[in-house]
Amino acid sequence: MTKIAVLKEAAPGETRCAAVPETVKKFVGLGAEIAVEAGAGEGASIADEDFAAAGATVGSRSDVLSGADIILCINSPEAASLSGAKPGTLLVGALDPMRRRESIDGYASAGLEALAMEWMPRITRAQSMDILSSQSNLAGYKAVVDGAAAYGRAFPMMMTAAGTVSAAKVFVMGVGVAGLQAIATARRLGAQVSATDVRSATKEQIQSLGAKPIFVENVAGIEGEGSGGYATEMSEEYQKAQAELVSSHIAKQDLVITTALIPGRPAPRLISDAQLATMRAGSVVVDLAADAGGNVEGCVAGESVTKHGVTIIGATNLARSLAADSSALFSRNLFNFLSAFWDKEQGRPVLPDDDEIVQGIRLTQGGKIVSERLSA
Ligand code: NAD
Repeated sequence: MTKIAVLKEAAPGETRCAAVPETVKKFVGLGAEIAVEAGAGEGASIADEDFAAAGATVGSRSDVLSGADIILCINSPEAASLSGAKPGTLLVGALDPMRRRESIDGYASAGLEALAMEWMPRITRAQSMDILSSQSNLAGYKAVVDGAAAYGRAFPMMMTAAGTVSAAKVFVMGVGVAGLQAIATARRLGAQVSATDVRSATKEQIQSLGAKPIFVENVAGIEGEGSGGYATEMSEEYQKAQAELVSSHIAKQDLVITTALIPGRPAPRLISDAQLATMRAGSVVVDLAADAGGNVEGCVAGESVTKHGVTIIGATNLARSLAADSSALFSRNLFNFLSAFWDKEQGRPVLPDDDEIVQGIRLTQGGKIVSERLSA
């Protein structure tokens, strides 16, 4: 019987868990045995008993690793912490291959088959397996909630006996998965929302959420969805036109949420210090790209700083602050991936070498690094 081990996360500040009772039941339904490391669900308010009631066994790290065929995790564990896992075991999670190369080399030496879920190709078939989308969606929501909490005024327009409170103005820069959820959340709170992106396809999405698109019109942006839905670096001419557009718009905004990312590159700089200085004191900027260098000049990852009276929140790992939901979505992504490749007769997932998904996420196999992106 295929044994699936679920690790307790060791990364500081991590609250999420790679399985929840619902996915434990689903894996049991597929005929697998699930072993959860004691305390793995603590940060997400899931007790060991809840996992046991769903059909898992609960034990120490060496208990769960012993005889495991698949290891599920959120962050990449230290390779040394997996001693006891047998060669050929699948290790599935957000392995952060570019920044954790040493660990990946360690997995190869141990003969593990490491699968990096963040490299899931952006194709329709893989949508339900996409951890970047599921976690970004929650981060977009939380960015607005955190921004609203730091803002010293109300969001909705209120007509009271003591006078009228005007609606907050929210500007969302970068309308991918996080940006769309940020727009929807700010609208629900009653704000007047505007948004911008370099991909022209987002214009209609912005309008359909009841927000106003603010777009560079005189220089061409990216038509359609671009490669795999991602943006690329824009020309100098475009950047200049965008900066002018932002300068004229930003002074009137109360909360700005920035989410712009370019795969494999530092985050594009969208707001300069001079532009920040034009904003009203008490305004708030939440920079969701803080980890990738930030969209906002002066942003510090993981910290909240004040410049010209404007609070800049360098948001990192916001999904961790919604551990129950982020764990549920992350673990469903893992289940959706493994179950899509589950071979009923063999009672285990079979990953064909020529499958686009497998080629995208497989890092190591047979003691070697096999990912093209890592060997390049
Ligand atoms: P992302 O996190 O890479 O970037 C966030 C947004 O920032 C993007 O919309 C991008 O266009 C924008 N951006 C980049 N540079 C910018 C700049 N200079 N100024 C303004 N905006 C800038 O994006 P994401 O959230 O991962 O989503 C990107 C796309 O991928 C979306 O169209 C999404 O629908 C699509 N997607 C497809 C699948 C799938 O089919 N499986 C899964 C997830 C996302």
